[in-house]
Amino acid sequence: MASIEEFKQEVRSWVEEALPAELRVGNRKNLPREALSLWVDALAARGWITPSWPTEYGGGGLDRKHAAALMSELKAVRAPIIGSFGTSMLGPTLLEFGTEEQKQEFLPPISRHEVKWCQGYSEPGAGSDLASLQTRAVLEGDEYVITGQKIWTTGADKADWIFCLVRTDPDVPKHDGISFILFPMHQDGVEVAPLTLIDGSADFSQVFFDGARAKAKNVVGPVNGGWTVAKRLLQHERSTDGGSEGGLSGAQKETLVQLVKREVGLENGVLADPAIRQRLAAQELEAKALRLTMRRAGEEARAGQTGRDIGSLGKYRWANMVKSEQDIAMLAVGTQGLGWDGPGFEGTQLDRTRAWLTTRADSIWGGTNEVQLNVIAKRVLLIPE
Ligand SMILES: Cc1cc2nc3c(=O)[nH]c(=O)nc-3n(C[C@H](O)[C@H](O)[C@H](O)COP(=O)(O)OP(=O)(O)OC[C@H]3O[C@@H](n4cnc5c(N)ncnc54)[C@H](O)[C@@H]3O)c2cc1C
Repeated sequence: MASIEEFKQEVRSWVEEALPAELRVGNRKNLPREALSLWVDALAARGWITPSWPTEYGGGGLDRKHAAALMSELKAVRAPIIGSFGTSMLGPTLLEFGTEEQKQEFLPPISRHEVKWCQGYSEPGAGSDLASLQTRAVLEGDEYVITGQKIWTTGADKADWIFCLVRTDPDVPKHDGISFILFPMHQDGVEVAPLTLIDGSADFSQVFFDGARAKAKNVVGPVNGGWTVAKRLLQHERSTDGGSEGGLSGAQKETLVQLVKREVGLENGVLADPAIRQRLAAQELEAKALRLTMRRAGEEARAGQTGRDIGSLGKYRWANMVKSEQDIAMLAVGTQGLGWDGPGFEGTQLDRTRAWLTTRADSIWGGTNEVQLNVIAKRVLLIPE
């Protein structure tokens, strides 16, 4: 394998060719469709949507350092990073728990960004207490018949498949009767009802199952042993989206000072205000401290010195950090950040209000802040209950 420096050079030359200027704007909404689709194909052809997965499943076969170098080069030119529930959550879980047949069937389409997945975990009575889930799956021949309801299912209205937690044995302690199963969304017996959020978007839905069918061979891990699989997937969710160095460096591609300069400008004196300067400085320090903490934690975890739940620590601090980052940006914008609709506000100001609202959810998804603190206490600090 090439040295890291040689590899970075190779990535830079390739990116020069493969990435048009119009896409060098990071992960914005409404990127030009055709250019984006060519970019996805170009990445997929090299296995670089899932760079660390084995090549036989469509990955790039890179080791951790080369995969990290690739990501940092892509982020440096503000290339759109192509990620999904499939790449960050289901894929790594299947690599560990899937049968060979499941890996062959499901991983390559994920690594080509061809199939959209959603996550069927939460239910109206099972969020933080996830193991209380009631959605039933009953075996009929070589299929499970599924009945019940999920909620807050991100992207369910666009998803092709769902990875879902179901109760396969109601007569045992709650953690022992759960299975992790995969099935298609486009079938009779699956109904999706989108929910509109406070920021105006409708990214998630309620999903109703009434006799939906899943092949029995698509249970991942042992039947009734899904809780272990579910927890591992949550570890991946928490570390890719905030609890890892990679997640953080992605989130930090624009510093807060840059963000305030871009959105507020310099002319109104906001950056000269000592109160704001102090908060900006504290925020930048927090971001730097967190990056270093996660780098140390990553090394300790790789050396087997800590458990894999270290991602909860990163997710918890990251959620607080992005929320307070948006609080500062709102403070800087002043009353122009209070717009919701109608005249008197520019489009960017309305976006600011919505961005602030959106980050309120960061301390909820993937387990609330309180739940992360419980996990850190129990499985990182090993404090007895
Ligand atoms: C943006 C977003 C996207 C999401 N996407 C998905 C998805 O794709 N798929 C999916 O399955 N789910 C998804 N969720 C749901 C999410 O996982 C749940 O909202 C979350 O786990 C909390 O569950 P709940 O909403 O039922 O709140 P509850 O569990 O009812 O919690 C209510 C409050 O009680 C507190 N609490 C509960 N138990 C404890 C405890 N033991 N100790 C201390 N405090 C406690 C919580 O911290 C919270 O403040 C998403 C949520 C959001 C916000």
